[in-house]
Amino acid sequence: MLNRQGRPTSLRAVADEPAVSGAAGGERPPVGRSDPDGSILAARPTFTGNRALAQEEALLFEIGRPETTGVDIEEPEPFETRLGGLERKAAIGLPGLSEPETMRHYVRLSQQNYGIDTGLFPLGSCTMKHNARLNERMARLPGFGDIHPLQPVSTVQGALGLMSELARYLTTLTGMPAVALQPKAGAHGELLGMMAIKAAIAAKGEGETRTTVLVPESAHGTNPATAALLGFKVKSVPAQDDGWVHLADVLPLLGPDVAAIMLTNPNTCGLFEPRATEIAEALHAVGAYFYCDGANFNAIVGKVRPGDLGVDAMHINLHKTFSTPHGGGGPGAGPVVLSDRLAPFAPVPFVRANGDAFELVEDAENPDAVGRMTAFHGQMGMFVRALAYMLSHGADGMRQASEDAVLNANYVRACLSDLMSLPFGDKPCMHEVLFDDAWLKDTGVTTLDFAKAMIDEGYHPMTVYFPLVVHGAMLIEPTESESKASLDLFVASLRDLAMAARNGDTARFTGAPYHAPRRRLDETRAARHPILRWTPPSPVPAQAAE
Ligand SMILES: *Cc1c(COP(=O)(O)O)cnc(C)c1O
Repeated sequence: MLNRQGRPTSLRAVADEPAVSGAAGGERPPVGRSDPDGSILAARPTFTGNRALAQEEALLFEIGRPETTGVDIEEPEPFETRLGGLERKAAIGLPGLSEPETMRHYVRLSQQNYGIDTGLFPLGSCTMKHNARLNERMARLPGFGDIHPLQPVSTVQGALGLMSELARYLTTLTGMPAVALQPKAGAHGELLGMMAIKAAIAAKGEGETRTTVLVPESAHGTNPATAALLGFKVKSVPAQDDGWVHLADVLPLLGPDVAAIMLTNPNTCGLFEPRATEIAEALHAVGAYFYCDGANFNAIVGKVRPGDLGVDAMHINLHKTFSTPHGGGGPGAGPVVLSDRLAPFAPVPFVRANGDAFELVEDAENPDAVGRMTAFHGQMGMFVRALAYMLSHGADGMRQASEDAVLNANYVRACLSDLMSLPFGDKPCMHEVLFDDAWLKDTGVTTLDFAKAMIDEGYHPMTVYFPLVVHGAMLIEPTESESKASLDLFVASLRDLAMAARNGDTARFTGAPYHAPRRRLDETRAARHPILRWTPPSPVPAQAAE
């Protein structure tokens, strides 16, 4: 069936050929898929700004009226103010809306956002996977959701018990003796891990000499940023053509000035670092530490214990590996596991079992420890979600989740590798597959154009232009929570786009997205000349002015 724009309504019918057996239903696609009308129709403005049932929505301050309110509050009796003349002289000017208007405003805004609950979200390195609703229910149990960090310890024994249990799971899964739960994101965990390393070095009296941190070129930007923030000099370990970090590139950089290496494993090229153990041994031999960026732990849970690789500190992104939601500034949690050498430098507070009860240790026993990272104990809601994920999966289920994540990424790789180019040859990947833009050469289509065209197909783009070591990188992480059917539809869509790019249908790409609420944005201008202040479109009514 064709829609108004002559596009087949089912993506299953448009793949140029079956991606793999059964992937695209086997139908021969219609030829001449290019769609000059589509862009014109899509670009035609409507009177309301709406697009069919996708509602345009203005800012709250543009639609709200200060005189409107969803609640009736009685005028207070005349009273004597005690603010000594500091009280506001004019109305506050908050935008008022009726209750239905308020509801529509926020629901419409939410519809302009794409989330894992809307569709497949292939953002590499970010692990956008399904959040089981069970975990949400557990986090909302009043005994976890409605407690306060300053409550007497005797009234939150269950919550402390949960933190203790989560710590036991994390240390068991990683094969590491200690964990600090407080960090509120992966980058925050990196900071803590490197602070622990810095504290250990200072305690040995080497603070003045060990000032260099080695960071492979393929690292996440947060790694060199963390090292620099703590005053370390950052030295790059060069990238190699096979996507791996080579021992031979690390050895010449080692000396008495090296504090640590920050190595991501599996790395940001989606590959397991086969030399991790030898790299760890080489660092330990010169008195340095091995920091592992464990944000991609989701690929190896139940398969590899980082402690066995010689890791000294590693953050775990609970919000990636253990399904708790993230993105858009949502809460994260980046617990850090520590080796025996670093455990004495762990921050306070931490939970300790004392007979049948749990206590909070608020004062560090070691004066050289890093102290306090956050005001309280970390992201309680994320701890509950992560433990719920672990308990509902069990040891075998967690291992299978890792295996399925790797299987799904390799399925996508196998289905696309005849059309799109793989920078490191056709070797298996871990939980994410990395393509480069060599296959787009001379098509007039860039990685950015391709990503934007995916939006028209109803997909959030994959991670693009990261890692930097690959030209025009496209990093796809499907995660284990996608079914084969949803992967097949995704693959068919990408194959259709890839064929269009190769067949010279550049118009489908260079102006994309055509169908999104907002068209292509000038991202450079937005970054260089951001407009950070909203100014009223017309003179503000007198009573709304301050
Ligand atoms: C996500 C990620 C980080 C940072 O984690 P945040 O929680 O976003 O701070 C660091 N390294 C890698 C490899 C990542 O994928």
